[in-house]
Amino acid sequence: MSAKEKIYSIVAHDAHDDRHHGSINVPIYQTSLFSFDTYEQFNLARLEEQENFVYSRGNNPTVRYLEDKLAQLEHGERAKCFSSGMAAISAAIMSIVKQGDHVICTHQAYGPTREFLGVYLQKFGIETTFVDGSSLENWKSAVRPNTKLLYLESPTSMMFQLQDIRGCAELALSIGAETILDNSWATPCYQNPLTMGVGLVVHSITKYISGHSDCVGGVVVGSKRLMDPLMSTEYMLFGGIMTPQTAGLVTRGLRTLPLRMQRHEMSGLKVAEYLCGQYFVVKVNHPGLTNHPQHEMARTQMSGYGSLFSFESNVPVVKLRAWADRLQYFRIGASWGGFESLINVNALNNSDQRSCSLVRLYIGTEDPDDLIRDLDEAWRCVAISPSEGELYEQNPSFNQNG
Ligand SMILES: *Cc1c(COP(=O)(O)O)cnc(C)c1O
Repeated sequence: MSAKEKIYSIVAHDAHDDRHHGSINVPIYQTSLFSFDTYEQFNLARLEEQENFVYSRGNNPTVRYLEDKLAQLEHGERAKCFSSGMAAISAAIMSIVKQGDHVICTHQAYGPTREFLGVYLQKFGIETTFVDGSSLENWKSAVRPNTKLLYLESPTSMMFQLQDIRGCAELALSIGAETILDNSWATPCYQNPLTMGVGLVVHSITKYISGHSDCVGGVVVGSKRLMDPLMSTEYMLFGGIMTPQTAGLVTRGLRTLPLRMQRHEMSGLKVAEYLCGQYFVVKVNHPGLTNHPQHEMARTQMSGYGSLFSFESNVPVVKLRAWADRLQYFRIGASWGGFESLINVNALNNSDQRSCSLVRLYIGTEDPDDLIRDLDEAWRCVAISPSEGELYEQNPSFNQNG
């Protein structure tokens, strides 16, 4: 069995021991507590609450089923599901750092993650250095005697920059620090950070894993060494758990994760390649494109690609937003990972960038030719004067990545 075929079997095969009267789906255990006949049984169960069903803030069979599937997909020993990606991320970080510790984080990490590390944790005396994560040297030179955590998100979800996962994991090991990686973009189908030495993997389940834009959730996966303390403290004490109903929905979405990812990958690359040839596009940020500066690195740590990517443009934000308004298939919205294509247009406030606009596209499961036609037709509708067109076409920086 190839690695990819194995994923198809894991998500489709019903691996639960208890047959639940032959039910094909794991029932939704709508219960807050689990009761016992004797005190002896009750006490035994409570001794190892990590493993047993005592109270649904700890374990619930519907949630546990999903956790076991996700642990298997990520090659981890244990997974815990949370009420959101941020609940998972903040709990994972808190489980590793204490007062006086230092964290190194890629400067392009998800905004709320950066705020949690760089602003919120300061009130507990935890400092974070943000580095351009694309170079391993930057991580090395940021190390301090009290560095306890390297936080990665590869690729990042706005600029799609990669980090050297194996290199960062080795660095962490050599200085006695831990690593966390946000794997929401690549999914366990295309990247398995735990097999490259990373300590904990986090996901926003809200995105590809649930896949239908109908739930919010998160997960942390790792070894028992890191997961057991996380479960007994940050999981049980903060209480940001996933409900059984959500776990049921996510499990349904998970059944088709590899199928969906295969299509997302193909369609995402097709639309990215189309955009590479457009005069209003300066640069397409998609690590699956052969001319992406980190494409070779991508090939050594990923086996496929997500369908969220961005492009940079010299066309002003207002004009690009007028274009976005005209799109029929692409909806304007913040999230991604569902069946529907999405667009987001923002100013790029990076001072070292020539271009001024950043368009992030999420490619859903629609026909990619319809999506390309939509982008093309809407662009032609947006009034653009001939002199303006010439201005874009004459700029020598255009299509450098095309
Ligand atoms: C959305 C997102 C998160 C946060 O997940 P929520 O479920 O919204 O809390 C974290 N990381 C990445 C890369 C994301 O896109």
